[in-house]
Amino acid sequence: NKSNTEHRGLNEKPSTHRETIESHTEADDKIIIGFSMDTLAEDRWVRDRELFRKAVEALGAEVKIFASEGDDALQILQAETLINEGIDLLVIVPHNAESTAMIVKKAHSAGIKVLSYDRLVRNSEIDFYISYDNEMVGEFQANVITEIVPKGKYVYIGGAETDYNAHLIKKGVFNVLHPLIEQGDITIVYDQWSKDWLPENAYASMEEALKANKNDIDAVIAANDATAGKAIQALAEQGLEGKVAVAGQDADLAGAQRIVIGTQTLTVYKPLKPLADLAAEVAVKLAKGEEVMGESMINNGKAEVPSILLSPIVVDRENIDDTIIADGFHSKQEVYKGR
Ligand code: BGC
Repeated sequence: NKSNTEHRGLNEKPSTHRETIESHTEADDKIIIGFSMDTLAEDRWVRDRELFRKAVEALGAEVKIFASEGDDALQILQAETLINEGIDLLVIVPHNAESTAMIVKKAHSAGIKVLSYDRLVRNSEIDFYISYDNEMVGEFQANVITEIVPKGKYVYIGGAETDYNAHLIKKGVFNVLHPLIEQGDITIVYDQWSKDWLPENAYASMEEALKANKNDIDAVIAANDATAGKAIQALAEQGLEGKVAVAGQDADLAGAQRIVIGTQTLTVYKPLKPLADLAAEVAVKLAKGEEVMGESMINNGKAEVPSILLSPIVVDRENIDDTIIADGFHSKQEVYKGR
């Protein structure tokens, strides 16, 4: 029922779940999924958006998408707009893990279930959570780096403190580092979040870390490739690129290119199509009122959330051809361009 969902203003009355269900008895009516995204800054999110759209449409449903570019108030407003437009289910990538709990509340009072995509909404009765295993991402990063640099001075460049993924990734990293720190092999000489995941904040952190340690740094673990890229830029300015082991995440094209050049040690690859396909499938099922079982229950501070966590893949110079290139995530030509 496009005509009455497209042009409804914010101040008009939201349609109730009952109306939505009734309207779906009409033959020409489609399930409508709302997709409330945060940023489109990193390469991955633009792909998530298109893959998710395609997957939902392949299931015969429709999708309405908003991105709020790091603006919490805007994300709430956009989600309200979607709810008011009579979507059947809301999929959300929260910018702020805590404040988006309000969106879950609002959706529920309109009878709409909410699925957390990639990032978990905390302290809410969110209905489902699908992501890659973020703790595993951090463990993979630290496993590779500690193998190459078993002793020395480490810098940790975290993600956004407002994104629960950043906490899980950090937990994973420190699961591995902790015994080595206790043992005295590894010293953390710098540890900082990067507000809003902004690469320029990672750059400032890396500059600060280098200055404070008179350039005496052996390894850098950054929460994603965008922040790793800026950390590497700061290292390069001190003539240290390729001399300090650096970990990232996402298999961004720029990250993959740095891996073949040798300025970044590894990335953690999370194929996006399986994530988007699974989320679309679960979203449409939940929208139809079908029951979907999670593979595990994850506590978000308030509720046990049925969840499915996919396993990420470590990518370094050795296996880049057999992973992200073999998958067509990036072409060989693009990845090796800088060499
Ligand atoms: C995602 C990462 C992404 C980061 C910044 C995290 O929640 O899991 O893949 O790089 O957000 O957008």
